[in-house]
Amino acid sequence: MLFRSDVATEFLQRLAAVTAICVENCLNYERLRRLSQTDALTGLANRRELEKWMNIEISRSLREVSPLSCLYLDVDFFKKVNDTYGHDIGDLVLQKVANIMLDAVRTGDIVARYGGEEFAVILPETNESNAMIYAHRLREVIANTDVIYEGQCIKCTASLGVASITDSDPDTPDHFIKRVDDARYRAKESGRNRVVSWRQLYSEGEQRQK
Ligand code: GH3
Ligand code: MG
Ligand code: MG
Repeated sequence: MLFRSDVATEFLQRLAAVTAICVENCLNYERLRRLSQTDALTGLANRRELEKWMNIEISRSLREVSPLSCLYLDVDFFKKVNDTYGHDIGDLVLQKVANIMLDAVRTGDIVARYGGEEFAVILPETNESNAMIYAHRLREVIANTDVIYEGQCIKCTASLGVASITDSDPDTPDHFIKRVDDARYRAKESGRNRVVSWRQLYSEGEQRQK
């Protein structure tokens, strides 16, 4: 084959084009992967991602005998916020709550939007009393935060449920999630803008049986 001075350049051009397509494919794959894990409104992990991490962290907690806590947060009377101020401002309130939650967690904690106006946080290496401190702080910050929109001041509160796994109290993911949800439900039922732990519910049940 005869050597032509432009052959090397042509080869490099083709190689660059193929490489560019490969890089583009990788970026698109990564974008899709992130989209499938993320809630579009708040940028938090979505429910699927939450459930994945819940399984991972529960297994790790049981294997390493380390504490694990989880909290559920439900914004109170959120339908009224939508009805009074409109859906867009409702969205703004949800974004504000998400940011407050993100600001309050440590690296390694997983904050997710469970759906609608409901959020969850997985707190690895955290026992119940520390999870309760975190939940009370969150409740307080949300209650004291004003969302300002076009001169209007919107206030909201949230009800939170907390459950924890300890070495003496192993659990399955489904059972654990149910405990957190029962605690959140009791926080609602007992007046809203409050925090209830599953242990409180459990001891109330014990008291009733006596
Ligand atoms: P409670 O105190 O009992 O939790 O009452 P609530 O009004 O917060 O609960 P309810 O389940 O009655 O209403 C939740 C509302 O959240 C209804 C739904 O339209 C609204 N919602 C769900 N997802 C979104 C969203 O992405 N954006 C907005 N703006 N609203 C949403
Ligand atoms: Mg709800
Ligand atoms: Mg609600």
